[in-house]
Amino acid sequence: MDLKKGILECGKIKILENELMKNHTTFRIGGPAKYFLEVEDTISLKKLLSFLSKEGINFFLLGAGSNLLVSDYPIEDTVIIKLGNTFKKININDTGNENVTVEVGAGYTLPSLSKEMYNYELRGAEFCVAIPGTLGGGLIMNAGAHGSELKDITEYVYCLTEDGEEVYLSNEEAKFSYRNSGLRDFIVVGAKLKLKKGDKKLIKAKMEENLIYRANTQPKGFSAGSVFKNPPGTKAWKLIRDVGLSGYRIGDVMFSEKHANFIINLGNGKANDVMELINLAKERVKKGFNVELELEIKLLGKF
Ligand SMILES: Cc1cc2nc3c(=O)[nH]c(=O)nc-3n(C[C@H](O)[C@H](O)[C@H](O)COP(=O)(O)OP(=O)(O)OC[C@H]3O[C@@H](n4cnc5c(N)ncnc54)[C@H](O)[C@@H]3O)c2cc1C
Repeated sequence: MDLKKGILECGKIKILENELMKNHTTFRIGGPAKYFLEVEDTISLKKLLSFLSKEGINFFLLGAGSNLLVSDYPIEDTVIIKLGNTFKKININDTGNENVTVEVGAGYTLPSLSKEMYNYELRGAEFCVAIPGTLGGGLIMNAGAHGSELKDITEYVYCLTEDGEEVYLSNEEAKFSYRNSGLRDFIVVGAKLKLKKGDKKLIKAKMEENLIYRANTQPKGFSAGSVFKNPPGTKAWKLIRDVGLSGYRIGDVMFSEKHANFIINLGNGKANDVMELINLAKERVKKGFNVELELEIKLLGKF
């Protein structure tokens, strides 16, 4: 089977070969992907998924790569799929009520969503202002901050199955939980969000407050955000700090001194060095506090 030919026959799809994943992750880490696809519309995506499923080829849906650690080794057995511009659309259904529904494509970024909702004087998405992911990745992770999460503003999630069939899932059916959802077997193509009309000044003030809080508590630099989920009743950063790992460095990656649950790539970081830090934190926290740290970030490729 000619894989490239088969993919191109599915529709509006651009194929990049041996594309460096480090150019598509906020960690700036990741080796070459043999096939990196940019898919332009839902019809092409459906055909592609059906084709890959029939041929038994693995794929990985990439958002903004802001919650990912990708191996430095070549990715040869998995096709990377990135959603193109058609998935970055937004449609506001204002019927004059206090409640307004907004249809958003999965490729729309969360900071842009927050800003656009501000422009339309809609409140509810202020917490998204500094989460550097896409709506699709955010829904999969049930991204959240400052006491809110995407679960709170989602009415419906529009998905495709791995074979390319359409599925609409209600908030309940999406089974959102802390940094997780029941959407993992689906490809998210968009969502219907519910927001409320608000006061533009108050919306702006909340967004600014969130940005200031971040600047004060989180480090700058290349990272994937919080590496571990917070265990029940405690914070992962406290545990990592208390086992002496704040500022601990291997190669060009280190636990941040400002927020020990962030691993920072100082420029030339290697995926295996990040994994070493991850394993070290797990071991020390288990030994010191009998707590099992669970990864929040997702892994892609061989380690
Ligand atoms: C500096 C920084 C700060 C952060 N702060 C926060 C925070 O405050 N709160 C928070 O929750 N997170 C935070 N994050 C983590 C991250 O931004 C979120 O988890 C975000 O929602 C991930 O979205 P993404 O598009 O980057 O997904 P990716 O990292 O590209 O992918 C994450 C997972 O989602 C899957 N996926 C992506 N798109 C789709 C899709 N359309 N359909 C199906 N599966 C898909 C991927 O396959 C993967 O399993 C932060 C990250 C950074 C770097």
